[in-house]
Amino acid sequence: MQAETTTMENKVQAAWNKRPLIISGPCSAETEEQVVETAQRLAQTGKVDVLRSGIWKPRTRPGSFEGIGTKGLPWLQHARKVTGLLTAVEVATAKQVEDALHFDVDILWVGARTTVNPFSVQEIADALRGVKVPVLIKNPINPDLELWIGAVERIAKAGINDIGLIHRGFSSYGNTEYRNAPMWHLAIEMKRRNPELLMINDPSHICGRRDILQEVAQKAIDLDFDGLIIESHIDPDNAWSDAKQQITPERLGEMLNSIIWRREDI
Ligand code: PEP
Ligand code: MN
Repeated sequence: MQAETTTMENKVQAAWNKRPLIISGPCSAETEEQVVETAQRLAQTGKVDVLRSGIWKPRTRPGSFEGIGTKGLPWLQHARKVTGLLTAVEVATAKQVEDALHFDVDILWVGARTTVNPFSVQEIADALRGVKVPVLIKNPINPDLELWIGAVERIAKAGINDIGLIHRGFSSYGNTEYRNAPMWHLAIEMKRRNPELLMINDPSHICGRRDILQEVAQKAIDLDFDGLIIESHIDPDNAWSDAKQQITPERLGEMLNSIIWRREDI
């Protein structure tokens, strides 16, 4: 058991240090078959390090799919076992942190709607005290770097050493080109102020649609981001959330093959 734990820790550390770090998977876990098949097809691309999947979904309005909940966590465990991919899940409460860790989720992330709320971030931080797990923190939905930095500080004060940032763009009323305006200068400023933190880009939630994903991903790489998190689904048009922006694992593989990476990452 001890040896197994150490091997997993090494694997997580290796992924955390890999450039580019590539995370992909469905916006939401829907069924066990969907999660496992997505993971298998992502693994076949040979380009993906971590399987992402929403288990608890922070929907803006009630009445749509709010996530499969804790019963989806064993599906991720299954996908992890058969593919060797690491797993990542969004957490927004102490109970979600406990449940995710109980089912061996390797990387946790704080969502954009949570980063805006210091009470929620503090609750997550308190649940993480004494735990060794990497945590990615999405930018808050509004363009406020202090909130983003505050969330980093709260998680760091809880003793988490491996903290990363996800730039997923900023909500701006009436914007039609992007679902969330990238405001690249804010991400660059955040990186300048936190050079030691890895920063990855989330083209899916910036674009909200498939056709411009690749150009946003390329821009992030050109700007020296450390990796990408991109939503993928075995049947994107019929996804239970964020259908317009998801792509198949095979399309993701093609996209990753066409991106021009920095020389040192090749
Ligand atoms: C997600 O990653 O599916 C998600 C809900 O993203 P965000 O917090 O960036 O809106
Ligand atoms: Mn999503």
